[in-house]
Amino acid sequence: MKEMYDVVVAGGGLTGAAAAVAAKRNGLKDVLLVERYGFLGGMATSGLVNPFMSYFKAGTNRKEENQLIFGIFQEILDRLEELGGLKNKITFDAEIMKLVLNRIITEEGVNILFHTYVTSVNKDKNSENRIESIKISNKSGNTDVKGKIFIDCTGDADIAFMAGVPCKKGREQDGYSQPMTMCFRVANVDRSKMPSREEINRIYTEAVSRGEITNPRENVLFFDTIHEDVIHFNTTRIVKKDATNAEELTEAELMVREQCWEMFNFLKKYIPGFENSYLQLTAPQIGIRESRRIVGKYVLTEEDVLQGRKFEDSVCYCAYTIDIHNPAGTGTVIKRLNTGDYYGIPYRCLLPLNIENLLVAGRPISSTHEAHSSLRIMPTCTALGEAAGTAAALSIINQITPGELDPIILRKKLMENKAIKF
Ligand SMILES: Cc1cc2nc3c(=O)[nH]c(=O)nc-3n(C[C@H](O)[C@H](O)[C@H](O)COP(=O)(O)OP(=O)(O)OC[C@H]3O[C@@H](n4cnc5c(N)ncnc54)[C@H](O)[C@@H]3O)c2cc1C
Repeated sequence: MKEMYDVVVAGGGLTGAAAAVAAKRNGLKDVLLVERYGFLGGMATSGLVNPFMSYFKAGTNRKEENQLIFGIFQEILDRLEELGGLKNKITFDAEIMKLVLNRIITEEGVNILFHTYVTSVNKDKNSENRIESIKISNKSGNTDVKGKIFIDCTGDADIAFMAGVPCKKGREQDGYSQPMTMCFRVANVDRSKMPSREEINRIYTEAVSRGEITNPRENVLFFDTIHEDVIHFNTTRIVKKDATNAEELTEAELMVREQCWEMFNFLKKYIPGFENSYLQLTAPQIGIRESRRIVGKYVLTEEDVLQGRKFEDSVCYCAYTIDIHNPAGTGTVIKRLNTGDYYGIPYRCLLPLNIENLLVAGRPISSTHEAHSSLRIMPTCTALGEAAGTAAALSIINQITPGELDPIILRKKLMENKAIKF
């Protein structure tokens, strides 16, 4: 362990991996990435989430001229493809993803600590607005790790919260966040016998009305995997639980495994093609769509998303729909951007109001519940991570705080690095 790191990145999801790599590539020497599991990827691997939601302009096809996100995300796509872990530009293999991220991180010389949890934050003795170190806990014990800049990529804004950054949770009216979902895979499916989605959902609705299904989700949501006989299900739903409350998270994990089993048995019993199938895999942890969101220097709104607003300090672009799975029960709200449109995410959304050496990237950036439902997707989170790592590097090299960094310079650097193209 070093006495002092340039940048400490907490959380090795796609966001954190991209942030650490970007910080190194843009000139920093000592970058530490801390991850609580023994592999990288976060929701993309530990949550088994798949596929990448759209990283193209709204309603357009997957041609390069419509693509919004490049940079490290593109490199991940290319490496997945090279190892046979990518199909149709969006469906990826979680095992190959773990390997790809390990390789990118280690080749870049990022210091990494697996099986390490960030547990608290120590403020600078001379300033309430600076973090001096974070406490990490692992098999070696508890250690304080000092950094010049910290990047919170924990998905739950853990560092920001512990440092006293104001945070919000869930929707305005009752604070409920989007539901949690455990993804699972069913293998040995005979696709040639599988009915249409409409027919599967008709059979599902009948089973619901007979009282055979306790899952509050309105339909069966499933996707391809890279294997012909394996189907990916993103269809369980645990509502009204707070992912940052240890007891509620535990309850959710217990409940959701029963739901996986119930859904699998429904498929096997009623859906042609599933007769000889088996439950191949449930995700190592329940998937968390939404928990804390920081209050930063700008709060991205639904209006910004749907009107396709671009900002002078946009650090990445997204065109995914507003996609709110009902936080309290059945139903999903979808609102689309106009065809061909997209919106920008301002650098200010990564800057907490009150801590000067902290950047927050990934799903907890500063936004409303509605805007969050769009920006939370994996390609956008990866791009936000790259932006945060680049910003941290530019700030340290120029001996300024991230808040003092001119976003025009940041955008120029992101363009130079081909992370964004406009
Ligand atoms: C069920 C579900 C379905 C989804 N569907 C899609 C989809 O189809 N397509 C799509 O593109 N997106 C989808 N998403 C959204 C997307 O997966 C996530 O929003 C995105 O992956 C978040 O990335 P992240 O790196 O910001 O956070 P995470 O992936 O949550 O990564 C956070 C990382 O930090 C680590 N960590 C957390 N706390 C600590 C701590 N205190 N100390 C150390 N390490 C810590 C975690 O282990 C994890 O590795 C879905 C999400 C869910 C839950």
